[in-house]
Amino acid sequence: MRVLTASWAAWVSAFELRCKQLPGDPDDTSGACPDCGAEALRLSFSGLERDRVGYASFWCDACLVGIHLSRCLVPEGASMESLHTPVEERSVRVPDYTLLWPDEPPADE
Ligand SMILES: [Zn+2]
Repeated sequence: MRVLTASWAAWVSAFELRCKQLPGDPDDTSGACPDCGAEALRLSFSGLERDRVGYASFWCDACLVGIHLSRCLVPEGASMESLHTPVEERSVRVPDYTLLWPDEPPADE
């Protein structure tokens, strides 16, 4: 089993950086992967278009590691997949990637 070296915080800051560039090009993969350094970061929002609330999948196509943010606000102008669209018909195919989770708080807190 491989050891994940990048922290949750590093992934979140890469995610925030990408969000600042939105709407941008949906196929844009710029920004170095916090885990392997490849410029292969992909972002996909899924949710309810009316509310612009949904979840974000943010992952690296090179090492297949990433994060998943639920109940987030989808930035204005960002493309999003409707939750009503069957997965196989969505424009962005999200691979089965290894999810990173927020760091465990220290046991004594
Ligand atoms: Zn990577």
